[in-house]
Amino acid sequence: MIVTRFAPSPTGRLHVGNLRTALHNWLLARKGDEDGAGRFLLRIDDTDAERSREEYVDAIREDLAWLGLEPDGEFRQSERLDLYEAAFEKLKAAGRVYPAYETAQELELKRKIALGRGKPPIYDRAALSLTEEERAAKEAEGISPHWRFKLDHEEFIDWEDAVRGPVKFDPATLSDPVIRRADGSWLYMLPSVVDDLNMQVTDVLRGEDHVSNTAVQVQMFGALHDAGLGPDHCDIVDPFPRFGHTALLVGKEGKLSKRLGSLSCDALREQGMEPEAILSLLARLGTSQPVEPIADRQVLIDTFDLETFGRAPAKFDDAELERLNAAIVHQLDFAEVEDRLPDGIDAAGWHAIRPNLSHVGEAAEWWRLVTGPIDSCEFSEDDREYLAQAADALEWSDNPWGDLTSALKERTGRKGKALFLPLRQALTGMDHGPDMGELLPLIGEQEARARLDKAAAG
Ligand code: GLU
Repeated sequence: MIVTRFAPSPTGRLHVGNLRTALHNWLLARKGDEDGAGRFLLRIDDTDAERSREEYVDAIREDLAWLGLEPDGEFRQSERLDLYEAAFEKLKAAGRVYPAYETAQELELKRKIALGRGKPPIYDRAALSLTEEERAAKEAEGISPHWRFKLDHEEFIDWEDAVRGPVKFDPATLSDPVIRRADGSWLYMLPSVVDDLNMQVTDVLRGEDHVSNTAVQVQMFGALHDAGLGPDHCDIVDPFPRFGHTALLVGKEGKLSKRLGSLSCDALREQGMEPEAILSLLARLGTSQPVEPIADRQVLIDTFDLETFGRAPAKFDDAELERLNAAIVHQLDFAEVEDRLPDGIDAAGWHAIRPNLSHVGEAAEWWRLVTGPIDSCEFSEDDREYLAQAADALEWSDNPWGDLTSALKERTGRKGKALFLPLRQALTGMDHGPDMGELLPLIGEQEARARLDKAAAG
């Protein structure tokens, strides 16, 4: 059974980078449905009470629902603090966490000194060598400790990454991470591991910015397991999930971070992007599979394959999203867009204008060609005469456009552009646009005749 999770912090709107991670996890879980029921969980990482906002929690749910990536379960870290406390106590008893008293300024100074000496800024574990008296003295001064997880330097860290292949870390090259602040609040690192264990997450799929967190967390999984929080705590034999770290998303011009506001889910929605266009792009970006407008999710699920993911940064290109969007819009059935269309457009109307749209929101503009008023065009005298003949030749049938153009071809000897363009201009006020064979029946006989007459009159 596959269990994945998407774990956003509700400190802002979801953007393409988050959406891509959510999608990968959703796809993996849905692919897992082939062997039973896969589960895609939403975990709200809201331990940072100051930065977390309820409005963002709602927005995350809405965005996922809009994209059709509904979770099979939702959890909030702020409601699970007892679990973290219990895990913390076990780790404390096992000697895997220790109190530290340095202030932020002291730590910054240590960093600078290390860097100045050309050394990596790794925490020097000074707090580990404090005596009982020294600790007591700190506490007597009213300094509450923050807490660090003690990495086991004897235990080399390695895992088989689903995207990056074998990954190795020497724990001595990492700082013992702070897992709890002096005020008792939790940092990301430990709660995430406790939850992954507790929710029996089988696959942790996230961006490569988490690789060094994973190194630390691999030891945390082991430590919790050894401390009795593995199989007993939750019914699994192997406490380690599989890990996969996808290459980051970059813009054409480099980092995406500055542009994330305009690449938030709500901004894309506002720009008229279809969920299927966004998903088509994000599912395949950074893989060896071609990015194509795929409206059928099952195809995305069936073809999702972590083996096809590359290590090079995945390039997000707005123009590619636009192209996909237009292609997806051209595939949408009337029933899928009906409630977003202006009144009056029926299935035939949608079918006629659909090929001209890049976004569904443009439908109203094109529908105006049917309902009018249309722009008036300038015609030569010759063309005006021709259009008068057209008004005369217009007969209403199942195929008024076909009949009209055949009749005019015969009567006037015109062909090609000379035959079609003045008619299109007179009937729509434009040089290009929807297929006239589909459009003319929608305009209707009376209105068509009136437009031809008007154009002929000049
Ligand atoms: N809240 C973390 C983030 O948004 C979750 C990372 C993870 O997937 O473990 O980066």
